[in-house]
Parts: sequence; structure tokens; C-alpha cells
Amino acid sequence: MHKEKAQIEIPLAGLVQGTHEFDFTCKARDFRDQQFTDAGFTDEVHVRATVGKSEREVRVAIEASADASFTCDICLSPVSKTLEGTFCIYYVCGGPPEEEQTGDEEYRILDSNAIAIDITEDVRETLLLSIPMKVTCPDNPECLLYRSEEVDQAAQPEETSSWHESLEKLKNKYC
Ligand SMILES: [Zn+2]
Repeated sequence: MHKEKAQIEIPLAGLVQGTHEFDFTCKARDFRDQQFTDAGFTDEVHVRATVGKSEREVRVAIEASADASFTCDICLSPVSKTLEGTFCIYYVCGGPPEEEQTGDEEYRILDSNAIAIDITEDVRETLLLSIPMKVTCPDNPECLLYRSEEVDQAAQPEETSSWHESLEKLKNKYC
């Protein structure tokens, strides 16, 4: 059986002006992207798209969440986390936006004949960007042991600097 690539699409045909909400659920493997599954996404992907339609603009706010599996940076145990990401896009019909671009949102030109907006790629990128830099397991006692050693080592230079600071203060007081 040949399955099509995941398509998370907002139907535009018949969409009246106003705010609409769309919920999507798909499987991580439906994205058919090695980078996505390698990053740890192997389960369901949930998407809520809040769509605001006006005469010349379609605003799409994406909230995506998915469970991802990682390995702990410290003890290499498997860790599962629910990751969430948001992204906002303005689609402008026909021409450039009338208002100034604020930087937080992305503007795209929407074909006046478009019958749907495909946000599959945006969902994929939003989730990839939500992956934390560091992953540690929350309640593995052995891992906590490693971590307290690490914290002790990390804490030392800070102590020195705060000690330096108080010395500096003392100097200022008496000189
Ligand atoms: Zn760990």
C-alpha cells in the first residue's frame, strides 16, 4: 500500500470571514522525513490551527505538540518528552501586506485561486525547533547522582566570583 505524505491543510474553499479552529492528528512517520523521525518524533503529532480570515488576509496560528524520545545527555537512559511549539503566519491575498511587518510573524503571498493552505512543512519545522538543547531524565536516582557531581563542579567557579565580588565591595568601602 502506498501512502501519501502527510498533508496538514487548512481548507479555504467556503471559509467565511472570522475565526476558525482546526485540529489535526497525524503520525510522525507520515511526515516521511528521516530528519524528523531521527530527531525523536515517532508517535502522534497534534496540531491546532487557529485561522482568522478577513477580506485580504488569512492569519494562521499553529500550535503543535508531539511526544518525542531522546536519550539523557548524562546517563544515556531513554527519556520521553512532550514538545510544544507555536508559529504564526500571515497569508496576504494578491499583494504585499498593508501593515508593517513586525518581525515575529511571517508574511506570505496567497494565490487568489488557492483552495487550501498546506501547513505540513511549518508544523514539521515548528516541532524541530522545539527540541531542547539539553535533555536529562527527570527521576532516575543514578542520573541525579551524576548530576549533583556535575553541579558541584559547576558551582565552584561561581563561589569564587561571588567571593571576589564581596572582596571588591569591601575594597570600595575602605579605600
Ligand atoms: Zn539521565
